[in-house]
Amino acid sequence: MKAAVVTSDKSVKVEDKQLRALEYGEALVKTEYCGVCHTDLHVKNADFGDVTGVVLGHEGVGKVIEIGEGVESLKVGDRVSIAWMYESCGHCEYCTTGRETLCRDVKNAGYTVDGAMAEEVIVKADYAVKVPDNLDPAAASSVTCAGVTTYKAVKESQIRPGQWIGVFGIGGLGNLAVQYAKNVFGAKVVAFDISDEKLAFAKELGADATVNSLNEDPVEKAKELTGGKGLDATVITAVAKTPFNQAIDVVKAGARVVAVGLPVDKMDLNIPRLVLDGIQVVGSLVGTRQDLQEAFQFAAEGKVVPKVALRPIEDINDILEEMEEGKITGRMVIDFTK
Ligand code: NAD
Ligand code: ZN
Ligand code: ZN
Repeated sequence: MKAAVVTSDKSVKVEDKQLRALEYGEALVKTEYCGVCHTDLHVKNADFGDVTGVVLGHEGVGKVIEIGEGVESLKVGDRVSIAWMYESCGHCEYCTTGRETLCRDVKNAGYTVDGAMAEEVIVKADYAVKVPDNLDPAAASSVTCAGVTTYKAVKESQIRPGQWIGVFGIGGLGNLAVQYAKNVFGAKVVAFDISDEKLAFAKELGADATVNSLNEDPVEKAKELTGGKGLDATVITAVAKTPFNQAIDVVKAGARVVAVGLPVDKMDLNIPRLVLDGIQVVGSLVGTRQDLQEAFQFAAEGKVVPKVALRPIEDINDILEEMEEGKITGRMVIDFTK
């Protein structure tokens, strides 16, 4: 079967790969769609360490075609996710307190174990989340990472209905953050990006205001929108240092700033600003299986509609290049159904 494998020269090669036999508790999934996330670009560039030989992909959706011994939660024919959160230990302090993504023994699809950018993939049955029948599977692929991550990040921001939230970076993740914030949490949304095209898209999705940070001051705009107070919360999905700093500058005292993007860099934290204004800066990593189930449900209800374009697996290096150049609006999704 065809699989997109990370090579030692920081590229991706579509190779023929054989899968091992299923072990206890595992299921075999025939992939239908797999979105290309910016994390795949970080992984293939070895931003978090060298993983030469791993199959990319953690925004996968497919159908179960075989179940291993001991599997009770899935049956052949079920449509399920193949997410970054591939498996955790199940018994540590994180796993038993609703924070399973932080498990120190976690395995991640397309990073520490082979992922979904392949015609077939092995999953841990208990960690594969069922996709609602009435959700388009190509759209569902975007929810498997971008959707659940931003749904969870907006949850973490503790935003309340009618409050102002700022979303920095309107890419594959950010456009869904706008939709979850607006349509699920009832917030007012201001979108920040450096691309007019991405901002026009945010506007189309219902953003109440947009700011191109290249030619407009984010702090001034935040003040203007909130009668001088500042935004109630921010979520950063941009892949650069500047928006991480801006996301702190635009919030009011006591606000939460949720970091999601993963530029390999440091952010500046002004200590008096942090302490005197009681700013909370929190990192947010994907979401639990329960978060994914909820994120799928809101998409199935039409509250969140991912914008996807289908591409063949042979395009993977082109897609990663387009992503690096900031040319993608919405998500490019590898189509394994043809
Ligand atoms: P993307 O490439 O689709 O989008 C990035 C967006 O950031 C683009 O719209 C780009 O125009 C914008 N941007 C770039 N520089 C900017 C700046 N200076 N100010 C404002 N906006 C700017 O990427 P994506 O797939 O949405 O992923 C975004 C980031 O989130 C990546 O670093 C990815 O690894 C990370 N990520 C984190 C998690 C998590 O669990 N925390 C999950 C998935 C992805
Ligand atoms: Zn991802
Ligand atoms: Zn654990």
